[in-house]
Amino acid sequence: MTIGSGRTPIILLVEDEAALREAVERHLVGQGFTVVTAATISQARAATWEHQPDLMLLDVLLPDGSGYELCAELRAATTAPIIYLTALGQDRSVVRGLEAGGDDYISKPFSLEVLTARINAQLRRIGAPRAARIDLPPLHLDFVSGRVSLEGRQIKLSKIELQLLGYFAAHAGIGATQEELLSSVWGDNSGVPTNTVRQHVSSLRRKLGLDAASPFELVHTPDKRYVFQQVRFPTTGQRAEP
Ligand code: CA
Repeated sequence: MTIGSGRTPIILLVEDEAALREAVERHLVGQGFTVVTAATISQARAATWEHQPDLMLLDVLLPDGSGYELCAELRAATTAPIIYLTALGQDRSVVRGLEAGGDDYISKPFSLEVLTARINAQLRRIGAPRAARIDLPPLHLDFVSGRVSLEGRQIKLSKIELQLLGYFAAHAGIGATQEELLSSVWGDNSGVPTNTVRQHVSSLRRKLGLDAASPFELVHTPDKRYVFQQVRFPTTGQRAEP
């Protein structure tokens, strides 16, 4: 992804089976995507209008209807790629789903790596930003492997810290309010304690070793924005403009 794209792709995951939904969500968040979830057609409809997802993962059998019907309905409103999550034995009916405007399907059980590859293929096709990596030399973030390095030193971050740093890096010099971070990084912020952002920011500062000699700073401005920015640039190589 390019730094200038400004945000990570939003994926709407519609799946009524909670364990599967949570596993897929965790995985995709770890890959650098912003994930919005829905368990029913009516939730999916509302989430589509509210979040304008870049791509949708759509279960076929939902408590209040069929994913195929939802797809046909959403096609009138969005061109975002739609990948069906089909159960074993539904492969034949998927023709109907593709006719309804779906772009691809993946049969359960599926490997999360294959799912990511399919998602990236669809995003590449439409030219959407993909959160594969961000390079602000000497800081490098790889959302696929989860590796972060700063001045050649590997930094071990939790998934949410990686997401947070990814958001900061993509908004270097611009920053974000606590509310923006909660909605962009944590997604559903309803149950998140108010000091969560502050705690994660201080953990990031510590792990990245952001002291006076560091090439980056992460500050809390008087107008209550958290701003991450580069203050020293490598003497060799390209200067990375945000
Ligand atoms: Ca289902």
